[in-house]
Amino acid sequence: MTTYVWSYLQEYQNEREDLLDAVQTVFSSGQLVLGESVQGFERAYAAYHGVGYAAGVDNGTNALKIGLEALGVGPGDEVITVSNTAAPTVVAIAGTGATPVFVDVREEDFLMDTSQVEAAITTRTKALLPVHLYGQCVDMAPLERLAEKHGLKILEDCAQAHGAHHNGRIAGSMGDAAAFSFYPTKVLGAYGDGGAVITDDADTDHAVRQLRYYGMDKVYYVVRSPGHNSRLDEVQAEILRRKLERLDQYIAGRRAVARRYEQELGDLAGPGGLLLPATAPGNDHVYYVYVVRHPQRDAILEALKQYDISLNISYPWPVHTMSGFAHLGYTEGSLPVTEKLAGEIFSLPMYPSLPDDVQSKTISALRNVLKSL
Ligand SMILES: *Cc1c(COP(=O)(O)O)cnc(C)c1O
Repeated sequence: MTTYVWSYLQEYQNEREDLLDAVQTVFSSGQLVLGESVQGFERAYAAYHGVGYAAGVDNGTNALKIGLEALGVGPGDEVITVSNTAAPTVVAIAGTGATPVFVDVREEDFLMDTSQVEAAITTRTKALLPVHLYGQCVDMAPLERLAEKHGLKILEDCAQAHGAHHNGRIAGSMGDAAAFSFYPTKVLGAYGDGGAVITDDADTDHAVRQLRYYGMDKVYYVVRSPGHNSRLDEVQAEILRRKLERLDQYIAGRRAVARRYEQELGDLAGPGGLLLPATAPGNDHVYYVYVVRHPQRDAILEALKQYDISLNISYPWPVHTMSGFAHLGYTEGSLPVTEKLAGEIFSLPMYPSLPDDVQSKTISALRNVLKSL
């Protein structure tokens, strides 16, 4: 069911020398924690986004959590986000002690329905957490207006949107801060876990650096509590620094796969049947995942089993229906679009080095199955 087990193997073959050289560089540097590779990657990552600061952390979930904490979110606060996301978005909010509050998504593109946000704002709301889902950005202008009007912070969840653009602005440069994951399957992926918080605000960056380092500015003195140990690993940083130079190529590769799916499946798509991903106005999609939709999803997946292609559902369970979040008090039916989508979506194989023959096999299998429904 999963692509992530082997999706990096082709890339590893292609880039093996450079990746192993990265490991060698760190091992022979004498600095295994927060050394030159982390600092070098942080400078390059901030520059790529045109912002002042980037701080490496240990994973995307902690990037979100520390990002929220650095913006002042804590126990008793509310953070507005979507249930139609990877569970870690919500795990991170809960991890700060704040309460996640959900709005529904838009039927056309599965992104946050920003028209529902104002009604969800209370006196306890501290931050808005838009998720740039599947590789394209949430419409930010309405959120920026609301943040201004109600004195709220915005943290962008960019875990699926490295290099995506919205009205010419790059994902991660639009909020007060942004959180990235470098989980291996992501558009920019490490060879293990990693994450980053980027911001244009020096104080926010300073807070992130303290929070990732026990609450210390320097060894061995805690100035801020509670802090965490959430550093980006030096080896992963050196790999990411090298891979960042290839990020635009990876994105181009993903777009080429998406274009092929569109060209060779587009004739089968239509209302009430197969729906291919729609790019929202002003967006440049980076296709972290290629999510299609069909009312007979389960029958299609069953029929596709005989074809040995790797399909996934991102995500099968809306977060608000998970038992671990039952205490939030959402019932089934409270987010109708999110719940409907969860029963109809599935993802086709998608990564830049996806071999042509796997693309062909996927397309022909899906064509066969759709025609025999
Ligand atoms: C992957 C992901 C995360 C979590 O990142 P990790 O590095 O796995 O902790 C958070 N939010 C979204 C939207 C993600 O896709």
